[in-house]
Amino acid sequence: MTATKFDATRVMDLEDAFDFECHPGLECFTTCCRDVNIFLAPYDVIRLRHGLDLGSDEFFEKYTHVLTKPGGVLPLVTIKMTGEDKTCPFLSPDEGCRVYDHRPWSCRLFPLNLEESGQFTYLCGPERCPGLDSPNRERIHRWLVDQGAAEYQDNHLLYSEVTSHPKLGRLDVANPAITKMIFLATYDLDRFKDFVFQSSFLQKFDVSEETVFKALRYEVDLLKLGLDWIKFGLFGEPTLKIKPEVVARHQGPPEGDDESS
Ligand code: SF4
Ligand code: SF4
Repeated sequence: MTATKFDATRVMDLEDAFDFECHPGLECFTTCCRDVNIFLAPYDVIRLRHGLDLGSDEFFEKYTHVLTKPGGVLPLVTIKMTGEDKTCPFLSPDEGCRVYDHRPWSCRLFPLNLEESGQFTYLCGPERCPGLDSPNRERIHRWLVDQGAAEYQDNHLLYSEVTSHPKLGRLDVANPAITKMIFLATYDLDRFKDFVFQSSFLQKFDVSEETVFKALRYEVDLLKLGLDWIKFGLFGEPTLKIKPEVVARHQGPPEGDDESS
């Protein structure tokens, strides 16, 4: 079998196949883990921290750059590359990726890119990823299963309800408190957990016992609560409910109910 001619402009659906092969025997093995920007979504951070057994503070300090998207409010988290050739800190010269089971979504998708339309394009050509010159045909949906991509995609879709929210562009880009809030509730989950369970959060919001139970034990559920809090606080969506007694306290006595009478 020979590889079909590479077409950099090709847009593919899940059912389409592309020529690709990647394994440790290739000369290019792990070259793609150098000189590359790897953006982390909140679920990537949950998985990497779990794989490395690290708390939020240590993970962000040691392995990431945290920036703000230019002209926007979204936090941007990238892996802090090391050395002159900008190597991923998780690359081991002998073993390859030492966080392989917990590697980020973009590493799982490489050399493809998932577009907002749900279709796939090539992130690079065979000059950067020689595996694209292989005659081996991979059907995208099967390849994604091999990459363990499904739960990553589900969680990225949840986060994209915030990142592609129509009201996001209207937020005040000069207000760093908004970026802090988004970072806290999506990335910095150790701190967000303290915020939920050690502040007046649960006295203020009517959160079900099941949600509280799950958020206390599972970071993915804590992240879902964080996303609800952002959608409520920043976009005015009814994803959380303020307890009636808190509303009443802030409204004060009804009109005409004059305590002096
Ligand atoms: S996380 Fe693993 S696969 Fe991804 S760039 Fe780093 S070493 Fe490579
Ligand atoms: S460059 Fe492509 S083929 Fe080579 S190791 Fe990376 S993903 Fe695999």
